[in-house]
Amino acid sequence: MTPRAKAQKSFGFFILFVKSIMKKQTKYIFVVGGVISGVGKGITSSSLGLILKNRGLKLTAIKIDPYINIDAGTMNPTEHGEVFVLKDGDETDQDMGNYERFLDINLTRINYMTTGRVYKTVIEKERNLEYKGKCVEVVPHIPLEVIKRIKEAGKDAKADIVVIEIGGTIGEYQNMLFLEAARMMKLSFPKDVIFVMVSYLPTPRKVGEMKTKPTQHAVRTLNASGIQPDILIARGDVNLDKKRKEKISLFCNMPIDRVISAPDVDSIYDIPLNFEKEKLSEKLCEILDVASKKPNAKAWKKWKKFAKYAHNGENIIKIAMVGKYFETGDFILSDSYLSIIEAIKYSSYAQNKKPVLTWLNSTDYSAGTGSSLSKEVAKNLGKLKNYDGIIIPGGFGSRGVEGNLNVIKFARENKIPYFGLCYGMQMMVIEYARNVLGLKDANTKEVNPNSKNLVIDVMESQKEILKKNSYGGSMRLGEYKAILRDNTIARGAYTQKEIAERHRHRYEVNPAFIGELEAKGLIFSGRSPDGHLMEIAELPQKKHPFFLGTQFHPEFLARPLSPHPLFTAFIKACVNKKK
Ligand code: GLN
Repeated sequence: MTPRAKAQKSFGFFILFVKSIMKKQTKYIFVVGGVISGVGKGITSSSLGLILKNRGLKLTAIKIDPYINIDAGTMNPTEHGEVFVLKDGDETDQDMGNYERFLDINLTRINYMTTGRVYKTVIEKERNLEYKGKCVEVVPHIPLEVIKRIKEAGKDAKADIVVIEIGGTIGEYQNMLFLEAARMMKLSFPKDVIFVMVSYLPTPRKVGEMKTKPTQHAVRTLNASGIQPDILIARGDVNLDKKRKEKISLFCNMPIDRVISAPDVDSIYDIPLNFEKEKLSEKLCEILDVASKKPNAKAWKKWKKFAKYAHNGENIIKIAMVGKYFETGDFILSDSYLSIIEAIKYSSYAQNKKPVLTWLNSTDYSAGTGSSLSKEVAKNLGKLKNYDGIIIPGGFGSRGVEGNLNVIKFARENKIPYFGLCYGMQMMVIEYARNVLGLKDANTKEVNPNSKNLVIDVMESQKEILKKNSYGGSMRLGEYKAILRDNTIARGAYTQKEIAERHRHRYEVNPAFIGELEAKGLIFSGRSPDGHLMEIAELPQKKHPFFLGTQFHPEFLARPLSPHPLFTAFIKACVNKKK
């Protein structure tokens, strides 16, 4: 065989191979970013998904994070934003939370991909002789593994459409192999794969007009990877005018009606509505050649009603969030607690209330305890009375812990609604042990392993793991069941007695102290089905309007149109306090 014939034959095999691992009828929308990061690729992907879902199509979504980390679990939230935990325990990017919330679906680890994950699999396969003696190369083997995962996610969800968000910005070295995978898919199935580019159009203050040039460059850079965008989402401070749409159309080589204006909005929940004003779902269906229904009017009505509440300026409730991931790293403060913020919104909107959150740094409450409180701290604590409710979210390590304990004591004694999430529940138990049971050195092993009263101790199953320093993906993660006790706040909030919630922790309430804590009035209203793990702690409502903590993270299950029952109960208590 001539070298040319040989090359043709292997090219033929390659096309066949890619085709064989793709299911034909499933369609794929790749979302990529141009010019700068942080302009809302995740929300765009979620919104695209929602407008297509409302046309009766079955959607799933994938997030590709180009870093080497196997998952987001080992990263500091100030660097990466919130770690969003999936039902199966995968510790992922906050965009996965956006997909779940907008699309009202549950995703699993197949929907999340990092460079580290892809390389690890390829290397393991190589060690297992799965490449049958071939030289394993970066191209095509890495992109082929990426394609295989994308296809599996589509199949797993029986999806009509898979939205795949490629993290990072066009032109970065990091995401090149993922773009290569996308290009290969497009080559094999030109009609089933499309590209949406989310780009940014700056309006420099001194120039005073919106500039298209950076976007033109970004599209050319994408072209250099062999990819032409089908739709361009033009992000900017303001709407894109006709002149700029024409420019982008001409210089970026795309019909003018495929350039979509996406100005800044006050609420992310307006974005799907804005997209539909530009008839985006119709255009997507046309390009993808999928038969779809008309947008579901009933579903839109519900969404519009929900989205409208974000603009409701009256009926404010003031909530203090006391935390510590406040230093600005790569990500902004609110990113570290994204799911909690959204969960608060859903439960507030459902009661026609607008939540206003104030971020309080736990270290501002931590100079001394009890009678030795410094004047400064006492003053800060006193100001907490101005809030309708206080939340202490999840966290790790010892910084800010003493401040948290002072805040909880104040909330308990002054009957301010308090909601503790994970670490916030563990703190609540420690505070109770110190100030009600009189165990002055009560603590968690995470903070002081030498304390005599470790009311929060390391879980038995975690001891070996910690000895081996094997931190990645090794906490108690994902969905576990719990049984609720009758006649409690928790049982009153949920409609069912058996619940399933998502977890992420290594420590637990020490069983040795449960009897004593309960004898002094703290109720463990939610427990694991075997009764060993304490999942919810609360004070009876006649003692305190809402003093409740969960070992799990309820925020991961809150959805726009189905708010989380515990957040709803908390917000109700905040509304009552305000009255
Ligand atoms: N640091 C605590 C633990 O590991 C709480 C974790 C959290 O808040 N997610 O148990």
